[in-house]
Amino acid sequence: MDKCSFCGRLKSETLILVSGLDGHICDSCAEQAYAIVQEENKIHNDIDLSELNLLKPREMKDFLDQYVIGQDDAKKNLSVAVYNHYKRLKQKKDNDDIEIEKSNIILVGETGTGKTLLARTIAKMLQVPFTIVDATVLTEAGYVGEDIESILTRLLQEADYNVEAAEKGIVFIDEIDKIARKSDNPSITRDVSGEGVQQGLLKLLEGSIINVPPQGGRKHPDQKMIQVNTKNILFVCGGAFDGIDRKIAQRLNTQVVGFNAGKTRETIDQSNFLQYIAPQDLKSFGLIPEIIGRLPILTYLKPLDREALRNILTEPKNSITKQYRKLFGMDDIELKFEDSALEYIVDKAIEFKLGARGLRSICEGIMMDAMFDLPSTDTKNLTVDLEYAKDKFEKIDLKKLKAA
Ligand code: ADP
Repeated sequence: MDKCSFCGRLKSETLILVSGLDGHICDSCAEQAYAIVQEENKIHNDIDLSELNLLKPREMKDFLDQYVIGQDDAKKNLSVAVYNHYKRLKQKKDNDDIEIEKSNIILVGETGTGKTLLARTIAKMLQVPFTIVDATVLTEAGYVGEDIESILTRLLQEADYNVEAAEKGIVFIDEIDKIARKSDNPSITRDVSGEGVQQGLLKLLEGSIINVPPQGGRKHPDQKMIQVNTKNILFVCGGAFDGIDRKIAQRLNTQVVGFNAGKTRETIDQSNFLQYIAPQDLKSFGLIPEIIGRLPILTYLKPLDREALRNILTEPKNSITKQYRKLFGMDDIELKFEDSALEYIVDKAIEFKLGARGLRSICEGIMMDAMFDLPSTDTKNLTVDLEYAKDKFEKIDLKKLKAA
């Protein structure tokens, strides 16, 4: 009697039984086998670096300019770092013993100034696996929270479990400042989310082979681990580092008094100390020197001024106002924003200290009634002028705005 050599089903119990030299395979075993082959192929299918959309640094910055307003220093640093990162990946084994080392990046700037947006935009351009993780959820192994390895689980998931692709990916670690030691004093008792997490993170940044639980969460003994080498993963860290400007100011002001000081008090731009940020400031904030050493590219984002906020409303390729125009356009409604209304929105974002993130919530509040009502009417035009914006804004629950 013919039967499947894999599952033992009789021919009569299968749809199709394929015969080979010494055995048979049924339709369901063939399907399973196919799925296994697909899965394996995926895991070992490398990214073809020659097909990567690799722009030159200047072109990368031009691309970033289409989506992110201002922040030229950060854009320039990021473009060079990413370009060099991919040159590294492409390097052939030469005999000259020169190995290009990885340059992870740290972006320092107030929240809502475009750190995540920059990282996201870079990833969009590069078509490599990219993930954003929040450092605040990370804790030392054994504590409530997520293990450091979960960062790589996310990256693997983004790469569809293609390990080689993930190993060339980019990880954005947000709120890195939140795992800083609470004080510069190394003898302080260990805090769950502080130095221990930094030590764990260091392993990833340094480049090592890490056992990653494929489903994330806590490691448990019978879970099959996937080994991921972090040597070629580019890490971009971001943080607001609240209060670091005072530390920078302190350092600068002590230096200028000192002998041979490069800068005099007059040449220091007192309105934005962040531009002078140096590795030692991160140390006084509480990052361990080893981590700082693994983040050799240190750059900053400026607080967004009035002009930047105004530009964010209209200039980026997918600016907020363009998005609303598109939404209304889908109901054949032509939407216009008058300058006076846009200025008003910016005024309110500044007045309530809501920054760029607030622009969206303010617009959302102003547009809500129109989005609710207009699709059911014959209206084909809406012009948001100062009067309209004021009227709608005054009805917004400000508490909600602040919470956004
Ligand atoms: P961060 O990571 O610095 O806290 P985000 O990048 O998440 O800030 O910015 C929040 C939102 O504000 C973005 O989604 C974007 O809409 C807007 N935004 C912030 N900064 C800029 C900028 N420089 N250019 C354009 N939009 C910006």
